[in-house]
Amino acid sequence: MELEDFLQFEPFNQLRAAMGTDKLGYFELFDPAIHVTGEERSQLDRQGLTLPSHQVGRLLDHTLCYKNTRVVLVGQGCYHLSHCESLQAGDEVTIATSAYPLNPVLSVCPSCLQLLGYQGYDAQKARKEGYNARVLADFSLPQFWQEYPPYPIKRDRELVKALD
Ligand SMILES: [Zn+2]
Repeated sequence: MELEDFLQFEPFNQLRAAMGTDKLGYFELFDPAIHVTGEERSQLDRQGLTLPSHQVGRLLDHTLCYKNTRVVLVGQGCYHLSHCESLQAGDEVTIATSAYPLNPVLSVCPSCLQLLGYQGYDAQKARKEGYNARVLADFSLPQFWQEYPPYPIKRDRELVKALD
């Protein structure tokens, strides 16, 4: 039996055109164990999500993740972008994807900028003192997400390590 080549199957092509897409879709089955739900996404964005710290992972690039999204972790007086040396995660942590839950307004953790080498930040070079201060002062989360897209990350489980 010869299988129909669905790329040449006109009714499907018309359907694709009607949907306004010329690309073949990529579909991944939704699995709430590894994919953030709409409810969680909203919480991460609006009030933050508090959960056991073992549910937060770190990626090879040192940034933090929850399921298939990058997150920041709310620390004491600052928020963390990475598993930096200053990060002290208790049994429970609060994570977020926007600055909105970081109220009262927290600033970004300088150790995280150092670990990531964010925009050339390097506190070990004295001559960069002024530059570093500017990177720290000008830091914005939306801009950070442009360099480290928060979602969806390819959660190849081998690449995700526990916080500790
Ligand atoms: Zn940090």
